[in-house]
Formats: sequence, C-alpha cells, structure tokens
Amino acid sequence: MEKTTLSKFSKEELTDFIIKNNEKKFRAEQIFSWIWAKNASSFDQMTDVKKEFREFLNQNCQILDCKIKLRQISKDGTIKYLIEFSDGLCAETVLMRFDNRSNLSMCVSCQVGCKMGCKFCATGKNGFKRNLEAHEIISQILLAQIDTGLKITNVVFMGQGEPLDNFENIKKAIYLINKNLQISIRRMTLSTSGIIPKIYELSQNELIPTLAISLHAPNHKIREQIMPIEKKYNIEELKKALKEFNTKTKDRITIEYILIGGLNDTKECAIELINYLKDIKCNINLIPYNPTDDNTGFKKPNKKDMMKFKYLLEASGKKVTIRLERGADIDAACGQLAGKTN
Ligand code: SAH
Ligand code: SF4
Repeated sequence: MEKTTLSKFSKEELTDFIIKNNEKKFRAEQIFSWIWAKNASSFDQMTDVKKEFREFLNQNCQILDCKIKLRQISKDGTIKYLIEFSDGLCAETVLMRFDNRSNLSMCVSCQVGCKMGCKFCATGKNGFKRNLEAHEIISQILLAQIDTGLKITNVVFMGQGEPLDNFENIKKAIYLINKNLQISIRRMTLSTSGIIPKIYELSQNELIPTLAISLHAPNHKIREQIMPIEKKYNIEELKKALKEFNTKTKDRITIEYILIGGLNDTKECAIELINYLKDIKCNINLIPYNPTDDNTGFKKPNKKDMMKFKYLLEASGKKVTIRLERGADIDAACGQLAGKTN
C-alpha cells in the first residue's frame, strides 16, 4: 500500500486525517509542529506522540515523498541540492546565505525542465518533463531545513521552470509556505518570463509575492532573438500588464535584465530601457550573463560596460543593483540549473 505523505496536508487536512485514524485532535497539532516548525525527518523524533501511534505512522505514512540525491557546497557557502521526486525525476534547488544579513534564501524549482526555451538558459535545454506539485515545491524548503537545521526566511521562485506556467500549484505552494512555514508573503518573490494573462491573474490573488520580470531586452527585436515567449506575449503588452500590476498591488516590481556582452548592454539599449520603464514603478536588477556549458555564442559583459549601463539607468532615478553571482563554481548561478541527472 502506498504511504500517505503528510507534507501534502494543510493543518485542517492533517487534523481530518488524524481523527479519521482514531486519534485525538491534539495529536495533529503535535505532528504538524514537528513537521513544519521542528524540521522532523522521522516519526521517531516525535517523542511526545505515543509509541503506538508512532508505530502506525511509520507503517502507513511518510513525512516527505522526495529526497536529497546530491548536495554541492560552493566556496561562498551557497548550497545546491538535487532533489529526487517520487517518480525518479530530479530538479535542483539553491540555498543562499548573504554574509552581512541573517536572511537565508531558498531558490525553489517549480517544474522539471521548462517549455520557454530562452536561449541563454540551461534549464530548458533538455526539454520539459513535468510540473511539480505544490507539496513537491514546498518539500524543497523542508528538505533544506532538515539538512541544515536552519530556518529559511525568504523564498524566491527562480529555480528551474516557469512558475506562471504551473500557476495552480504555485498558488497552493505560496499558500502553504505562508501558512505552514510561516514565511511572510513579503519575503517571497516570483520570477516570470512574462506569461501576461497569468500576471493579471496573480494581481487578483489573495497572497501576492513580489513580482520579478525577466525582461532582458529593451525592445521587441532583441527580446525576440533571445526569448521565444516574446512572439506570443510581446514587450508592449507586457508593459500594460506591469502598469496594471502596479496599480493593483501598489508594490514595486523587480525588473531582471541579463547583461549579455555586445548584445543588450550598449548605451542605446540603456536609453531605450529607461524609456520603456519610465511609467513602471520598479527596481532594476542587472544580472551578468552566466555562461552555460553549450555553444550559445553569448558573452559575459565586461565590467566597464556593466558599470556604464548601471550609471545610465540610475540617472533616470531608478534603484539599480547588480546581482551577486552565487555558487557559480557549482553551476548554481542563475540560468545554470540543468538538473543534470535527468
Ligand atoms: N522561469 C523564470 C524563473 C527562473 S529563471 C524566469 O525566467 O523568470 C531565474 C532568472 O535567471 C531569470 O531572470 C532568468 O532569466 C535568469 N537566467 C537564466 N539564464 C541565465 C544565465 N545564463 N545567466 C544569467 N541569468 C540567467
Ligand atoms: Fe524557463 Fe526561465 Fe530558463 Fe526561460 S529563463 S528557459 S523561462 S527557466
């Protein structure tokens, strides 16, 4: 008989399950707290749950239905995990700690592979395998907490896959991360390549994370060259959706812009980008292109061009940051997650 996976449950569902199996409600409270607050990885750790019931749990249930298959630790402390799901497919997830802050950020994956096919990204290179279920998304966080004994404080949906292409599961995952793991929605960021109808939908959701947009180009022509999604949802329509998102949420959007040497890092591009963003309430995050291991023909930007690009944007009054490269020595940086064992 297949075991029941308890990390799939909300508190109410867990309570129903426990009561159905002839135990009292307070047992559900105890077990919930062991799983979500105390990082238990086995029922035997749940010492305040009576032995007979632990026996029942051991025989009929499991906490998680996935496991860490591989762990790599970078020189900078970043940890990349390869997670194996119940059907044997794998996806990567990255845990980042920034020295000067107490934040511990987890970059979770939402799909095995990706359908979007952005030219600069390693994730989609082996095609799309499947969506991850909500509990598989949240399990990535539980596994990292169990492994490190630390509490994750921030979640970014920026791992493998396109979150808005797996929207129902992402909405559920956001809800469970908030309710079960008690991580504030203010500490969650969702990055999308720009599935416009879903951006409108997200602005109506009860819990709305910070929205990050993978823009990566200042105009249709360049964006189309590097992101196939531009053919379906173009940059001008995207602008309308972003303005509407601003109006609905009052929050600043993060604009992600990969700088690719000689392609989109020129002065002309900076000026065009300033113009594109002038009516959008946003911060800009510049990401130096991370080489992926095949022949894309793309180059890293040089330092001087990067700084020039940043200064030009800053002169327009926007806040601009350059994304710190994390875990590049273990292929854990943006765009390098390929989930290689698949
Ligand atoms: N699919 C979503 C989220 C995952 S990608 C999205 O595309 O937004 C997370 C970020 O890494 C995105 O901004 C993505 O464009 C960026 N990225 C992808 N490949 C990269 C590369 N080779 N170098 C730098 N950033 C990259
Ligand atoms: Fe998919 Fe994002 Fe990679 Fe594009 S950048 S292929 S949307 S994961």
